[in-house]
Amino acid sequence: MIPYGRQSVDDDDIASVVGVLKGDWLTQGPQIARFEEALTDVTGASYAVAFSSGTAALHGAACVAGLGAGNTVVTSPLSFVASANCARYVGATPAFVDIDPTTLNLDLDLVPPGCDALVPVHYAGLPVDLSRLSHRPRIVIEDAAHALGALTPTGPVGNCANSDMCAFSFHPVKVVTTGEGGAVTTNSSELAARLRAFRSHGAVATPDRGGWSYEIRSLGFNYRMTDIHAALGTTQLGKLERFVGRRNELAARYRSLLSELPVDLPPEAPPGWRHAYHLFAVRVADRHDVYRRMRDAGIGVQVHYVPIYRHPLYADLRLGPEDFPVTEAVYAGLLSLPMYPDLTDDEQNQVVRALEAAQ
Ligand SMILES: *Cc1c(COP(=O)(O)O)cnc(C)c1O
Repeated sequence: MIPYGRQSVDDDDIASVVGVLKGDWLTQGPQIARFEEALTDVTGASYAVAFSSGTAALHGAACVAGLGAGNTVVTSPLSFVASANCARYVGATPAFVDIDPTTLNLDLDLVPPGCDALVPVHYAGLPVDLSRLSHRPRIVIEDAAHALGALTPTGPVGNCANSDMCAFSFHPVKVVTTGEGGAVTTNSSELAARLRAFRSHGAVATPDRGGWSYEIRSLGFNYRMTDIHAALGTTQLGKLERFVGRRNELAARYRSLLSELPVDLPPEAPPGWRHAYHLFAVRVADRHDVYRRMRDAGIGVQVHYVPIYRHPLYADLRLGPEDFPVTEAVYAGLLSLPMYPDLTDDEQNQVVRALEAAQ
């Protein structure tokens, strides 16, 4: 099976992990700080705080932003459920606005002026143009799980030029991996300090009372990343440019190979922007059958995503397909084709032939 996404791990990544296993610290050693510094280098943010997953990172961001009961958090319905669940974790109310048919990102013009927080998702790796936000909610937390390595005219995604915090995921299908892992970047030293406490039981060191002394000032979790994961993340980040470059090369190849087929291609990054191409999601006429035929042909296509309001967990919001006509029209045909740096040209040709045969 050619999967829709997978990690690219080489000898240099393996050596860095083995080095940690032979050393003194498996967790809370020097690797986390190294990885966080590498993340601030690639994103341009002042601070990066590593987490055990992207979901934990979003939970942390929602919590330290002070969101809770009575707050409304708007996100895109065309996303992974974690984008909306972070509101639920803190007792806030998730809400959705329909997507923009040209970018497949949430339509900024539909964001209600009264919402407390916005969680824009850079779907597939194409950044939301946050500089266009006319009335900025109190809190903006980017869900950049797809978009590490993407560029906008105001710099790399993750620099928080138009947001308070930006969350990343390092799951194996994402742009770089730590196995499981996530991070939040921010330019606020106060938010960074709260994120560090949140990921480790709410503990704050109080060295003036002795080197051993700490206080638990808030309810935290154990959402720490291990040094094993962080070491992998640091060597992976060193390959970010190559990974995103190859993803863009594969996207350009798909565009030319698929130009004669009856499929709708995903939106491109505008001039001056760079797409991270976590996903290459086309739209086909008969998705049900095309999906099955592709799978039978050994191509691991996937659908990103079942709109969040369709999940039973979200039934209490009483939202349905009729409320999101653009999301529904797009979802009906969505199909993610294989996209990862180690996908060879030959394998990509095989995907295209299978898609042609499956129409
Ligand atoms: C992958 C993903 C997450 C969650 O990340 P994990 O590391 O799997 O917890 C959140 N949001 C989006 C949009 C994602 O694709």
